Amino acid sequence: MAVVRFAHLTKSYGSIPVVSDLNLELPDGSFTVLVGPSGCGKSTSLRMLAGLESVTSGTITIGDRDVTNLQPRDRDIAMVFQNYALYPHLSVRENIAFPLRASKVPRTEALARADSIAESLGLGQLMARKPKDLSGGQQQRVAIGRAIIREPSVFLFDEPLSNLDAKLRVETRTELLQIQRRLGITCLYVTHDQEEAMTLSDRMVVMRDGCAAQVGTPLEVYDAPVDTFVASFVGSPKMNLLDGQLTDGSFTLPSGFTFSVTQSVASGTVTLGVRPDDLIPTATEDGGATVTLVELLGPRAIVTIDARGTELTSVVETARMSGITEGATVALSARPGAVHVFDAQTGRRIVGDDTHRERRH
Ligand code: ADP
Ligand code: MG
Repeated sequence: MAVVRFAHLTKSYGSIPVVSDLNLELPDGSFTVLVGPSGCGKSTSLRMLAGLESVTSGTITIGDRDVTNLQPRDRDIAMVFQNYALYPHLSVRENIAFPLRASKVPRTEALARADSIAESLGLGQLMARKPKDLSGGQQQRVAIGRAIIREPSVFLFDEPLSNLDAKLRVETRTELLQIQRRLGITCLYVTHDQEEAMTLSDRMVVMRDGCAAQVGTPLEVYDAPVDTFVASFVGSPKMNLLDGQLTDGSFTLPSGFTFSVTQSVASGTVTLGVRPDDLIPTATEDGGATVTLVELLGPRAIVTIDARGTELTSVVETARMSGITEGATVALSARPGAVHVFDAQTGRRIVGDDTHRERRH
């Protein structure tokens, strides 16, 4: 069993807290992603689990072992970094077999295990090559192979795809997920990329300033962000977050611009969140808002709209783009039930709006 638990995990450098009271449980075989802006403490948390960074207070357990003060090699963990270094003079086969050779597993056995892992990683045809004769994605897969050959009970990744170009990143991401599903190893994965977090994770942990702002499945976090920070961090293009006056039926910006909103949770001064997919522009002469930019993305388009000085983003299916051109005058409405209401002062979600979640599940 490789359930990993962080209990009240804290890390400070001098008096500066970098991770504060992090509580987290990674179920056996799960894929958890720590995601958040640069500097929020993701790598530090991962490195504490790996034993590469000491813990200021709190405990880390793997299964029923308290590993808080164990040496990295005694933790049964493997880690893949953004900058993985393969041995340039060794073949793919020897690179993958290396950790076993280093722990004195006989050569024939080590190479046989490397062959079997390489097969599952789609590297079977490349075993004799040197790293310089591989693409970036292939090199990354060799690094993964080398990490999993010891069959660790926990697998850690720190931004492992950052050095790959966009297309390769998506492909390698898919492969990684397939490998993890097949092997059933508990994974903790760090990235600043919310899309990567959404696609890879069973559970995501959105971190902010050393704390877990929200823990949940990607859909839970996307559908019901706990505050405006999570709301604007998760989802692309970003959620529109607007300060103004809400009634059941309409929302009015400080400029006086009004659009229709159906919800029953709150009224008064709030921060209203509307995802671009849920903001609908309709071409009409007296709409009061203006389309300033249309960016085609194939089946959909990102439409930037100026509503009396407030910039809003909408995503529209190209089939529904009639009249939505740059310079057109539009009215806006939010898809019924699809708005998020936040406290204007604290930014916390105002609870009770379950309509949005029902719509999606
Ligand atoms: P992330 O991986 O989320 O980008 P890190 O965990 O690497 O963030 O770093 C979190 C914070 O801790 C950053 O503000 C960073 O500057 C600080 N930090 C990291 N290592 C040290 C160190 N050795 N001494 C002092 N501050 C550090
Ligand atoms: Mg980092």
